[in-house]
Amino acid sequence: MENNLKDKILQLKKKRGAKILAHYYQRGEIQDIADAVGDSYYLSKVAKDCNEQVIVFCGVKFMAESAKILSPEKTVILPVMDAGCPMADMAEGHEVEELKKKHPKAKVVCYINSSAEVKALSDVCCTSSNALNIIRNIDEEEIIFLPDKNLGEYIQEQVPEKKFIIWNGFCITHKRVRHKEIIQAKDIHKDMVIVTHPECEKEIRDESDFIGSTGEIINFVNTSSNKKFLIVTEEGVLHQMDSKDNKEFYMPGGSMVCVNMKKTRLEDVYNSLLNMKNKIELKEDIRIKASTALKNMHKLGG
Ligand code: SF4
Repeated sequence: MENNLKDKILQLKKKRGAKILAHYYQRGEIQDIADAVGDSYYLSKVAKDCNEQVIVFCGVKFMAESAKILSPEKTVILPVMDAGCPMADMAEGHEVEELKKKHPKAKVVCYINSSAEVKALSDVCCTSSNALNIIRNIDEEEIIFLPDKNLGEYIQEQVPEKKFIIWNGFCITHKRVRHKEIIQAKDIHKDMVIVTHPECEKEIRDESDFIGSTGEIINFVNTSSNKKFLIVTEEGVLHQMDSKDNKEFYMPGGSMVCVNMKKTRLEDVYNSLLNMKNKIELKEDIRIKASTALKNMHKLGG
């Protein structure tokens, strides 16, 4: 049945001239049918650079929006329209405007996990892999960082000479990790390597051997000579991890799942392609301003 559906999706994809993109946190079967799997910025670049005019973005809304911001001429489809990101929803445009008024000299850096409206109000976007470079390359001393408090504080620790005004947003998936779960795992498996996403809280990061973005975590694990890993990010990354050489993977609490990322099923991909529904539409003035913030990310991120 699943194979039958996969075949039907691939046929329909060809007929529509579409490219299917999947974030690392998507279900394994979605990653398997995708033309490209990666983090949100990489995928928005693939969407922009590919020849296909229809992009099916299997992820959450801000990701499909980022693809549309960079490729306005293309049709960008989000298979499940209510697959959102609670962290992105924690910063609203009018609140950002208020904060900007209070700190007129500050540069506004927004994590890519933000709405198009918030990106449009920001000077530059960042991802978890390029945030440090970007902040270091900004001349201004004062930085408004939003919406992720944990990523903001992680960068602040490394750039203490700058003044940070950090938003109080967080990822509900990474926030669920308990400090005692990490300590228990370390007690049971002395040789375990703890790899953590910077969206985790400080007390979790401080117990970690490696901190990085999803792509960096996958690369670290796949090239490491260690055998046992505690993976402290959404469990979709396991699908890209290489278990050869008897590598063992564990997760705090047994699993870490983002319910929004898991909303997309093969049926949704098929139906969205069949009916060409769930197209991302953005107001042009917002899109243009947001695209400046994304392009600045490229300039400052190196
Ligand atoms: S894992 Fe966290 S940051 Fe990523 S989409 Fe889910 S809620 Fe948002």
